[in-house]
Amino acid sequence: QSQELSQVRIDYHAALQALVEDGTRMVCTGRMHTDRICRFESLCYSTEAEEFVFFHSNASIMLPNLGSRRFQPALLDLSSVEDHNTQYFNFVELPAAALKFMPKPVFVPDVALIVNRFNPDNLMHVFHDDLLPIFYTMQQFPDLDLETRLFFMEGWGEGLHFELYRLLSNKQPLLREQLKTLGRLLCFTKSYVGLSKITTWYQYGFVQPQGPKANILVSGNEIQQFTKFMIEKLNVSFEGMPSEDYIVVFSRTINRLILNEAELILALAQEFQMKTITVSIEDHTFSDIVRLISNASMLVSMHGAQLVMSLFLPRGATVVELFPYAINPEHYTPYKTLSTLPGMDLQYIAWQNMEKENTVTYPDRPWDQGGIAHLDKAEQDRIIKSTEVPRHLCCRNPEWLFRIYQDTKINIASLVQVIRQTVKMKPGPKRQKWTSGLYPGKVRDAKCQASVQGTSEAKLSVSWQIPWNLKYLKVREVKYEVWIQEQGENTYMPYILSHQNHTFSDNIKPFTNYLVWIRCIFNKNLLGPFADVLLCST
Ligand code: UDP
Repeated sequence: QSQELSQVRIDYHAALQALVEDGTRMVCTGRMHTDRICRFESLCYSTEAEEFVFFHSNASIMLPNLGSRRFQPALLDLSSVEDHNTQYFNFVELPAAALKFMPKPVFVPDVALIVNRFNPDNLMHVFHDDLLPIFYTMQQFPDLDLETRLFFMEGWGEGLHFELYRLLSNKQPLLREQLKTLGRLLCFTKSYVGLSKITTWYQYGFVQPQGPKANILVSGNEIQQFTKFMIEKLNVSFEGMPSEDYIVVFSRTINRLILNEAELILALAQEFQMKTITVSIEDHTFSDIVRLISNASMLVSMHGAQLVMSLFLPRGATVVELFPYAINPEHYTPYKTLSTLPGMDLQYIAWQNMEKENTVTYPDRPWDQGGIAHLDKAEQDRIIKSTEVPRHLCCRNPEWLFRIYQDTKINIASLVQVIRQTVKMKPGPKRQKWTSGLYPGKVRDAKCQASVQGTSEAKLSVSWQIPWNLKYLKVREVKYEVWIQEQGENTYMPYILSHQNHTFSDNIKPFTNYLVWIRCIFNKNLLGPFADVLLCST
């Protein structure tokens, strides 16, 4: 056995006997391949076949047992990117008796989390697709503690940001290539396969043009719990940090440059009367970048993966995203979506270069850096004349690449004007706790009383008690919404009320059944649930 895996001792003979007698056991969560995570005992992997193996024996379990639907299209997504056809997980099946004829299994004693990273060289993908999903998948299953062993099966090398992945557990993550050195048949004693997508907020445009995910389920709080963990693991020291407010310009040094960066820094410093510093991935350690960003009042950067670091900004800070010529900021919003998640409490500002004379294009570079020389002449001319890249799918649209890899001379006056429309005073982190966001419970003990006056007039008196949780909360404003619906009708009359009782007389008819719906509202926009509907007869 390799020294990599020998930290936890296991009884080899007992492990082999369990595998032969019990086989593989799998129980999954999720109804579809896109929301499935599976827990296995004795899942194996053949490093020669590069396939996972499920051994059938007396005690095998396979839930869900999908039959051949397991291949339509797969058992589950191994990365956090939804339904990507290069990221599927499956296994092949064998009877446990076949072990007699196979290489001697090598057991992995650590609890394993087996996943694919999506694009480990791009910082946005690292945080959004891998680090956050791994962190919260580990929160979901108590077995996945800091002693978890991460297995990255996508087949890449370590990638540019491996140090970040190593923060997630105390054990060195292993790559697919390294498994070969461990043995021909690996068997994971206990493993989880797949990643939670619950924290992802963006879809990259594989089936429809890129944009925010349809149903975002993460808020600033969960992002901040994650960044708190990362800051601790990075051992970031805040000693000797300036107490004054400052602005960070996150610069790119290879492409998509700001051509007048010095002028920009001076202008920002002058306009906001704040120290302004630059950072870049090339010139700073992660620990430094995180330290500087997590206390900044404003982060200014070209559109690009480095902007995912706004994850680390303090509440109240401002994000300024700069877009090159012909790139419509509304069409590329991964960082806007992040900044404006509820509870992130960041101000987001987009600026676009609208002046052709301030852009520098690179038609002769390779296609993946925005070159267009490989296209036919008419297409090149069309792209050069175009003033906006039309919406497109990922990932190789030449017009998009041509425009996004332009360098830009920032028109300082127009940028300052755009920032000033949002940031009136000095920008600055407000460090007070975010307290909004607690919702009312149901109103209680709702009652109604009807009275009829003559043949055409009637009144309905409705009363209720405050939601149970209100007595433990400080709430700025408490209102009640009441809907009165005549039974059998599709429409209703809505009322917003301040008190816990009200007598309705407008449009109330005698000898009629009404359905009364009541809910509580905190601070104008925190809508509680409706209480059970009240049936009132006049
Ligand atoms: N990158 C960088 N400086 C540069 C160019 C790129 O730090 O001058 C980083 C960038 O932040 C990302 C990776 O290199 O993490 C790949 O950049 P690319 O332009 O391919 O992707 P994008 O930033 O458009 O997502």
